[in-house]
Amino acid sequence: MPLLQYRPSLLEVRTGKVKFIILHHTRCMYPQETLKIDNAKYQTPFLSKAVMEGKQSDINYNFIVEQIEQDVQVMLARPFVYKCEFKDIPNDINNHAVHVAMLGSYDYKIPSKRFYETLAYRCLNPLVRLFHINVDRIKFHSEVSTNKELTCPGIFVDETVITAQVRRYIIKASM
Ligand SMILES: [Zn+2]
Repeated sequence: MPLLQYRPSLLEVRTGKVKFIILHHTRCMYPQETLKIDNAKYQTPFLSKAVMEGKQSDINYNFIVEQIEQDVQVMLARPFVYKCEFKDIPNDINNHAVHVAMLGSYDYKIPSKRFYETLAYRCLNPLVRLFHINVDRIKFHSEVSTNKELTCPGIFVDETVITAQVRRYIIKASM
């Protein structure tokens, strides 16, 4: 598969402090069949392919969470100093947002316990700690979108499980 060319000059640097984490499934941007269901195969290269086909500058999420073989992996997609482009998200939120996408469509699949744990431990919890984000500001795309039809990140994703997992990995630093 050809490699995505990096063109950071075409990307916009985020100017606001990070205050929100927005959760997606990749179905919201990339409807390709190869990305429809997260299976055990490594599918992130198909995202790069979709970006190239769409003549876009980079994957429109900062992180991708994907099941590969028996485990779940978190990958950096668009470096998080750059803004992602969502016309349906008000700029006062998007300018302060990091975008995390679960590969596939969770309108068709239920996330596993391991999926939730890895998402929380390897991605959301470090972002919460690094940027001092309130756990209540981990939002679903559908919650912050002006498009009320949107189901992103999918009808089978449970926000209370996500926030409970993130809180589980918050360890108070001992001095
Ligand atoms: Zn989305």
